[in-house]
Parts: sequence; C-alpha cells; structure tokens
Amino acid sequence: MRRSLAAFFVAACLAAPLAAAFAQPRVPAALVPDRTQPIDEAATAKIREYTTAPEFNSPLTDYLPASATVPSPSAVLGDVAGAPNVLPYAADVHRYFRLLAEATPRVQVFSIGKSEEGRERIVVAVSSEENLKNRADNDARLAQLADPRTLGLDDAKAEPLFASTVPVYYITGTIHSPETGSPTALMELAYRLAVDESPYVRDIREHVITLITPVVEVDGRERMVDVYRWHLAHPDAPTPELVYWGKYVAHDNNRDAMALTLSLSRQVLDTYLGWHAQVLHDLHESVPFLYDNTVGDGPYNAWVDPILTNEWQLFGWSNVAEMTKMGMPGVYTHGYFDTWSPGYLMFMAAMHNGVSRLYETFGNGGADTVVRELDADESSRTWYRQDPPYPQVKWSQRNNNNYQQTGLLVSLAFTAQNRELLLRNFWQKGKRSVEKPTREGPAAYVLPGDAKRPGAQAELLRVLQAQHVEITRAESAFTVEVPSVGKDAGKGEGKPGEAKPGDKAAGSDKDAKPAPAKRTFPAGTYVVRMDQPYSRIADALLDRQYWSPDDPQKTPYDDTGWSFGDTFGTEVVRVTDARVLEAKAKPVDGAVKTTGGISGSGAVHLVAQRGDDAMMSLRYALGDAKVEAAMAGFSTGKRNYLAGTWIVRGADADALRRAAEELGVAVDAVAAAPKVATRPVGKPRLALLHTWQWTQSEGWWRQRLDLLKVPYDYISTQDVAATPDLRARYDAILFPPVGIPTSLTVNGAPTAWGEPLPWKVTPETPNLTIDETDDMRPGLGFAGLVNLRAFVEKGGTLIAAEDAAQLLVERGFTPGVRVADSGSLKVVGSILQARFPDAASPIADGLGDRLAVYSAEGMSFELSNAAFRGWARPGADRPTGRGGPKDEDVVIGRPAPPKRAEAPKVERWEATPLSVEQVRDNAFVIPEKLRPRTLLRFGDADELLLAGLLEHGGDLAQKAAVVRVPLGQGQVVLFAINPIWRGETIGTHPLVWNALLAGPALAHPTAK
Ligand SMILES: [Zn+2]
Repeated sequence: MRRSLAAFFVAACLAAPLAAAFAQPRVPAALVPDRTQPIDEAATAKIREYTTAPEFNSPLTDYLPASATVPSPSAVLGDVAGAPNVLPYAADVHRYFRLLAEATPRVQVFSIGKSEEGRERIVVAVSSEENLKNRADNDARLAQLADPRTLGLDDAKAEPLFASTVPVYYITGTIHSPETGSPTALMELAYRLAVDESPYVRDIREHVITLITPVVEVDGRERMVDVYRWHLAHPDAPTPELVYWGKYVAHDNNRDAMALTLSLSRQVLDTYLGWHAQVLHDLHESVPFLYDNTVGDGPYNAWVDPILTNEWQLFGWSNVAEMTKMGMPGVYTHGYFDTWSPGYLMFMAAMHNGVSRLYETFGNGGADTVVRELDADESSRTWYRQDPPYPQVKWSQRNNNNYQQTGLLVSLAFTAQNRELLLRNFWQKGKRSVEKPTREGPAAYVLPGDAKRPGAQAELLRVLQAQHVEITRAESAFTVEVPSVGKDAGKGEGKPGEAKPGDKAAGSDKDAKPAPAKRTFPAGTYVVRMDQPYSRIADALLDRQYWSPDDPQKTPYDDTGWSFGDTFGTEVVRVTDARVLEAKAKPVDGAVKTTGGISGSGAVHLVAQRGDDAMMSLRYALGDAKVEAAMAGFSTGKRNYLAGTWIVRGADADALRRAAEELGVAVDAVAAAPKVATRPVGKPRLALLHTWQWTQSEGWWRQRLDLLKVPYDYISTQDVAATPDLRARYDAILFPPVGIPTSLTVNGAPTAWGEPLPWKVTPETPNLTIDETDDMRPGLGFAGLVNLRAFVEKGGTLIAAEDAAQLLVERGFTPGVRVADSGSLKVVGSILQARFPDAASPIADGLGDRLAVYSAEGMSFELSNAAFRGWARPGADRPTGRGGPKDEDVVIGRPAPPKRAEAPKVERWEATPLSVEQVRDNAFVIPEKLRPRTLLRFGDADELLLAGLLEHGGDLAQKAAVVRVPLGQGQVVLFAINPIWRGETIGTHPLVWNALLAGPALAHPTAK
C-alpha cells in the first residue's frame, strides 16, 4: 500500500506543531558502557561470534559484564543468550530468573497466575536494592498519581511526588509463540540491569523499576520449543506448523485486550495496574530489523489522550536516533501499523493512562542462523526509514537479541532521564480521565436496570470490572436528558444515546437536530461514571466507532468497530447530562451477576428466553428432563411469557435450582404446563470441527463451549474423513471459520512428497497436546466431504461460518445458495445491523427483532429456488421509446397487448419466484420444503452501519446473513457473519445455541 503524496504532506504538516513538545524531554546522557568493570571475556567472545556482522550489535550489548556472585544466563542456557540452536522452555527461563533473584537483592520474582493449562506466569522486578526495599512506599505514591481523586485533583499536592517517585516500566515477551527471541534477550537484559556498573545502567537501576514477564504465552512457548526440537532432530524436513499456541487462540492472543477472555490478558493487566506502571512494552518479531510500531500510522484510536500520542513520538524517535547513532541499520518508527483498535496487549497501557509500546524486531522463528531475503517494501528507503534494513542478510537469534536489548536499554535510559516528565504526564492523563464529564464528556454510560438481556448485560459489566472500571448501581429511579432520536429508530434494544420509542419527547421535534428527551431509568440501573481514573477504557469500549471511507488509511490493520453495547446485544446509553452523576447509587462490590433461582412451586418449570448464553449451559444441566419451547406467547395469569419460553417437565428440582442459581437464570415453577403449542428443545450430541492447518478462529468457539460447560467432541477434518457414519455419533457439528482458502481445507498440505509432520506427545515433544495426529498434512479430503454430506442427509445439523460456509456452498451442500459478489462493498471488522425476517423463528428466541452482528469482510448470501440459475437479477430499465423513464412505451399502430403478471415483490434476502419459463422442464427446481430460507438478514442501507468502516453498504443491505438449507433429512446452517468472535460478540452467541437446541425444529415455517 502506497499513500498519496498529498497524504504525506498532511502528515508532515501535522508533525510540525509537535516540535515544541520535542524540546521538553532530555536526551539520554552518555549511553556509554564502562569498559573498566570486570568483563566476562568468554561470554563476550561468544556474543561476537554469534552476531553475524558488527553493525548488528551495539556498544551496549557487545560485551557481558562479569559477576562473581550473580549467575549469567549461561547458568541455565549452557551458552550466552541468543546462541544458535538454543531455545529454552518457559520453565527454564523462569528457573533462571529465580536463580538471579536468589543471587542479588536487585531482582525479585513474583508469580502472577497460571495459564489455561496450569503453567505459571511470572513477573520479575529489577531495580536498585533500595528501590525494591522501599517498594511499598513508592507504590503508595504511584497509587496516588494513578488515582488523582486521592489528592483532590490538586496539582500542588502531586508536585512533590514527581521528584520522589520511581516510575515502573513493564516489558512483556513472546506473547506470539513463533516469535521466539525475547525470553533470552530479557534474561540477559535483567542480568545486565542487575550487575552492570556503567553509569547509564546505574542511572536506570536507581531511577526505574523494570518489570519483566519474559514469557506471556507460556503454553505456546513450550509447544514452540517442542516444535523447534523436532526441527533440530529433522533438519531437512519442513517444520510442523505451530497449529496451537495457547490452549484456545494463537495470534489473536494479542487481540484480547478488550474482552479479556484469556488468563494472559487478565494477568498482564492486573500486574500492570497492580504496580501502577507507566509503560507497557510488548515485544514482537515479525519485521526487520527494529520497528517501533507504536508511533504507527493513522488513524489513531479516538479515545487516547493527545498527551500519550506525544509520548509515543518521544520514545519512538529517541530509539531511532540513539540506535542509528550506534550504527545499527534498519531501526525505524512510524510505518504502516494503524493505531486504532484497542485490542492489542500493549494498548492496556494506552487505555489506562500509561504509555503503550511495541517493538517488531527480526526473528527467525527459532534459533537457527539463516540467510533471509526481504521484500522491497521491508528494505526500501522512505522518509521514516532513512537507514533501511538490508535486502538480503544472514541473520541470527543473537542479532535479534542485540536489537531487542539495545532498544530496551535506550528506552529505559530515556525513562530514567525523563522520569519526572513521564510521571507528570501519568498524573495529567489520570486527572483528565477523572475530569472527563466536564471536559469532552460523556458524564456516564447507563445500562438500564430493566435490560431485556440481563445475562449479556452482566457479561459486559464483568468485562468492565476486569478492566478495573468502577461501576455503581442506582438505588432509586432517576431521570436525565438523553439525546432523542427520530421516530423511525429505537425498536428493540436501542442504540447508545437513544431514547426509548415510548418516550413522549422522542421523535416529536421537527428540527434537524433533535432536542434532548427526558428518560427515567429504574432502580437497579447500572451507571458507569466517567469521573474515574479508568474512564477511558469504558468510553472506548462502550462508545461507537466511525472509520471514514475517505480516511487516507485504506488498509485497516484490524477490526474497525467493536462497540460493546451493540456486540453484547444490550442497551448502553451514552449520557452527557451531568445530573446522571447525582443519581443515588452505590458502588458495585464483587462481580456483577444476574440473580437466578426458582420462584413459585410446582412440578413444571418455565424459563423465559432472555438471549442468554447460560441457556446453553442450562439445557445440558437439565439432563434428561423433557424440555419444550412454546411456539406462541402465553400467560399463567401471574405473568406473560413470550414465544420461545421453555417448559420443563421431569426436572430434578434441586439440581435445577443449583443450576439456575449458578447460571443466574430465573425459573418459575408452576403446577401445570400452559396450553400452548410447543416444539422440542434438544440436547444435541455435539462435535466441534477443526483443521490441521489453522485453528485460530475455532479457538474462540471452543473457548466459549468450555466456559459454558457444554459437552462436545473435538474432531478434526481427518477424523471426519475417517468416520463414515458421523450421524451415529453426533446430532450436530459446528464448523467454525478456518481462515485459509477452502481448497486447502479440503486438500490439506501435499502428502505426495516430503515426510509426515506429526502433532503428538512424544518424549521429544511432550507439549504437543490439545489434539493429535501422526501427520498434519492431510485435509478433509473427498472422503471427508462425502462423510459430512452423509451426516447431514441422515438428519444431522451442520453449522458453518464464513469460509467454512463458503466451502459447503462451493462443494454443492447447499442448492439454491451462493456467496454474494461483494461488488465495491468494503467492510473491515465492522459492527452491522441485522434483522430477523421471521422473529418467530426458533433462531430468534430471546433476541427480539434485530441484532448487531460482527462482519469481517461483508460476506453475504443470495438465494434461489433452483439448484441452477434462478438468481435475482437487477431490474432492467425500460426500453427506449416515448415518454419519461417511468412512463409506459407505446407501440404504434396497435393497442397494447395484455401485460405479463406483475412479479410479486421480493426482498433482497429472499429467492426470486421462478418464472413460468424457469419452471418449465427444469430438473433443478428445488421442491418447496427443501428451499433455502434466510434466518437473519443485514439491515437496510440507512441503518446498516453501527460501528467501524462501511463503504458502499448498499451492496450488502438486506442480503442474507444466516441461511438454513435443508439437505436430505438434515440441514445446513450457513453463517456469513462470525457469531463467536474474540469474546466480543456475546450478543450473537445465541444464534448458534438456538440453532443447535432447535435442531430439526429450526424448519419452523415463515410467519407471513
Ligand atoms: Zn507478534
């Protein structure tokens, strides 16, 4: 991607006013090592030997200081850090840090928790003995700066703390498991910080507390080392793909900083905030030679403080300047990375008043020394990369370690020199966060106490709590002004800032800019006040995002929208009226939870549908009880129930009570079942299908099934290929998005040449778990397609999303469905409005009539009533002739012939009725009951965009998003959207659960 000259010019102009700010920080003084101190000559010789050219090292790291008492990394590694062929397990890395802590009072090690697979994560503190001894006092000062309310927002009271407080700089390594260099770099860095007596290192030690989590993804690290060991034993074979990193997700573990579903995210955030750190610096290795990507490119996240964006520039350009002066080529900042999404691990700091930083250095994905070739766009010279990386280079792990350590030492020296500036900024950013209601606003976000989906609301509030956001709950009703909206909007669960349609003032104003309307919220309403230190993250998650199609950045780096009120399917009202802060409310202690249990008495239990994830858990907890869903609304005299309400008979009342309390589901016991038509609610025997090529996206589905304690078999495409009678084992199979071309899912990797690539536990590879195979290469294959099809034809339900859905369409599973040509449409991870064509369909149970959905790239389906042709065609213009475009033409010399019957109006999500000619002698006409039907469709053009980027949305409006296709005795359910994504789409999870639980009843006829 190349940006226009005009864009460069604008960027250059914008940079100019920053010049004054550049004058503030101090340039690190004399980054010169003391060569008179004792040097470990053997280690120094090894460092020089393993560095492939002198310029790939710096004066800061081309030697190793010696210590008589403190062990260097070779105590564990058997060689210096970054040595060829040496890649330590996380357990060994941790062992070294504990040795270090035993040997010197300048190092301490703390456990910060366990991974999903039970492996320990640590944080290491390195500073002067005095700093570590006085840690509690220092932390008390940092806590005051972190929460300016403690000092009454008084700058004068904060002033003495700036000079007396030691800032905290937190470094995190190898969150991405194939990026392998940082653990050894951080081992050696900690050693240097502990023993080196160079003045600049002493300065760092005395004025900074350096925190290090050497391995963030501890599960993935052990697997990566296993794979590398396999590679060393099979040097001539390609290395098996690291198909699993953490237990659930791979690369996306660095997109979890919003929903915080992973232990690594929660533990790093808790550590960062627990230490009241100023900087979070995350190490990655996919770009040569050192790219400080925090400065990045636009657009910047709209919720970060401009004070922070200045700090990015200060750190970034200082790094470039100092390392360039040291003669290290290929160090640059700016670049192509846009700084929009707050999903990255480093962004935890950006969203909590700190400084987020990220390095990309150049890693070989292991510890081999190899020749690497760079693309032109990586090695070319451009204005922000005046000293670019080489187009071809022999590269070693040691080189990588040199760059990582040198960059970090420069950054730590900068922090030591500029500690007062950073602490002042830290205080100011916190203060401005607390002052948000009186600065830019809003005053608060309000989550109404009468939410239609209380389970989803509670889930959203728990995410905010995990983000350390304070939540209060109104003790009585309160009334505030909210922006009113036009009369067309506001059906169902509203949009942020909308008044409910019932409000008298809503829609009554004729002015173009609607006047605010009063709205009363009931007692029990949750209020997320913006006058708190961490208001920024709440604001960023709960507000909506808009990415202009005209933005100069044409290739967004990640999702462009995430507004959590939408994606969690629960109403969030953005309130600017400061009176909201006067509402009588109490802080919420402990995790927000919906209250569940059984009320009333009787042998029949009624469970209202509230679009809750917990319904999936509840169904399995109910065991063999008879569960049905009402096909119409009904009343018990005491209460009205909507269609979809569960009627449970034969449940063990004690077990049900326990489940209802634990899951937060309200159950009503009644004496007799209501007289209403019902459909069965199944308890399907379930399988989740994965490939051996990539498991990134299915991991989010698997994680959610585990969190909900849903029983399922985890099967691979190879299992499917080897199991002719899948139907004997399963009622439903989930086939989540894969993220590779569909042909690869079928074909796998070539098996005609090369040797098998195993993924299994062996003495050589003890950590290759989760699933196993002797050879990862074979894909689903034609046998797998045959078996999968037989599964459906024998009555199974197959649910597939995105590329998995596309695969089924391509392979003929879904007559009458095609993936729509997206035309000029542009969607990049956007949140879009969708509607149920038939709100009485079982898939809509508990969801109302509309739903916000996550769309990765704007995929949609088109339907036909024939297995071949029959697609809707755009209406033809009238022919040339008399009159205007809407007039009828007239043939001269005769009366007009009888007109053809007017075609019935067809919606875009429906199939066009076949014409007389299309039906005549056509073997491809699909019988009525086997025709595909749209269960969820995209919204109208004017309502489609909720958050993110949408360009030419008319090409997507009203098209099918979820389709049911009968096949034999069974059904295929195709998702063009991804309903289970990064823990952020709680609102659409029930689409999958409802489809699974309905099973064959999903064939519910369209209500017309
Ligand atoms: Zn990475």
